[in-house]
Amino acid sequence: MKLMAKTRIAAAVLALAGAAAANAQDNVLNLYSARHYQTDEQLYAGFTQQTGIKINRIEADDTALLERLRNEGKNSPADVILLVDAARLWRAQAEGMFQPIQSKVLESRIPANLRAGGEDGKGGEWFGFSTRARIIVYNKVRVKPQDVSTYESLADPVNKGKVCTRSGSHPYMLSMIGSMIERNGEQATEKWAQGMVANFARQPMGGDTDQIKGVASGECGVALANSYYYARMLRSPKADDREAINKVGFIWPNQQTSGTHMNVAGGGVAKNAPHRDAAVKFLEYLASDEAQEYFANGNNEWPAVATAVSKNPSLQSMGKFKSENVSIGAIGKNQIPAQKILDRVGYK
Ligand code: FE
Repeated sequence: MKLMAKTRIAAAVLALAGAAAANAQDNVLNLYSARHYQTDEQLYAGFTQQTGIKINRIEADDTALLERLRNEGKNSPADVILLVDAARLWRAQAEGMFQPIQSKVLESRIPANLRAGGEDGKGGEWFGFSTRARIIVYNKVRVKPQDVSTYESLADPVNKGKVCTRSGSHPYMLSMIGSMIERNGEQATEKWAQGMVANFARQPMGGDTDQIKGVASGECGVALANSYYYARMLRSPKADDREAINKVGFIWPNQQTSGTHMNVAGGGVAKNAPHRDAAVKFLEYLASDEAQEYFANGNNEWPAVATAVSKNPSLQSMGKFKSENVSIGAIGKNQIPAQKILDRVGYK
């Protein structure tokens, strides 16, 4: 009886091992994505056509996706994780959710400042696949553009009572402040944060679109927003969106100095990916010119790869600008000192 039970267990273990091996060779890829845009259908279809690998998608917002990955732990079926903003991508790295990979394709196509993690000179753990700029929007009646031409200038006394932002603890703000820490140091950044709090038109609230609307209504003189929110409003079929955007001017910040703060949507291979090779192939596909165009256009962003062409009319109408080249790894990591600064100065 005992022997039979043992045999049965051994058989069950063998069957499981067999299933795992078969699973690893399946032509599928489990994609955990915080992105969901119309153009993604074409993006994924293109990959399946090229490689024969089918994509199973789990889509949720960044917070829910990270929570799910934490709960699944070592047993997670995730192969590729796509998230939005360096602050979140770095957090996923810090929690050990990615594995380092080496890919000649990614190293040659994705600029060095848009790759992060991994040991020095040995590939990376996460990669930016599209970029967005953090722009300054201002009320054309209340504010002179020359008073708000840099992130630093928003903390000047001339802008007292005019500045609106979303919560300082939101990843978009933490990343922007993380980039300032990298460029100006912690002391100067803390002074800046104090100046921002002194200049608030209202306590931080809402999302980036709410900041643009607050500027349009005149409640705010000046605010910060990611470029795709502005581009989306430019393209909006709604009359009130267009009316609002007409009252607002925008600035590419820091053109005479460090360039405009850039962030990414990006991703990497999951730590325990059952289909690791397929996962690397998928990231390499995302770096192809064809995929870059879909990936960037889905959310009015720019391709990360220099040879990929953006044909987005809203972005084209916004013109060319100088972007900063701070490493997204440093931006991600600096969210910790950034949050401490915000806590010290009472920037909610
Ligand atoms: Fe966003």
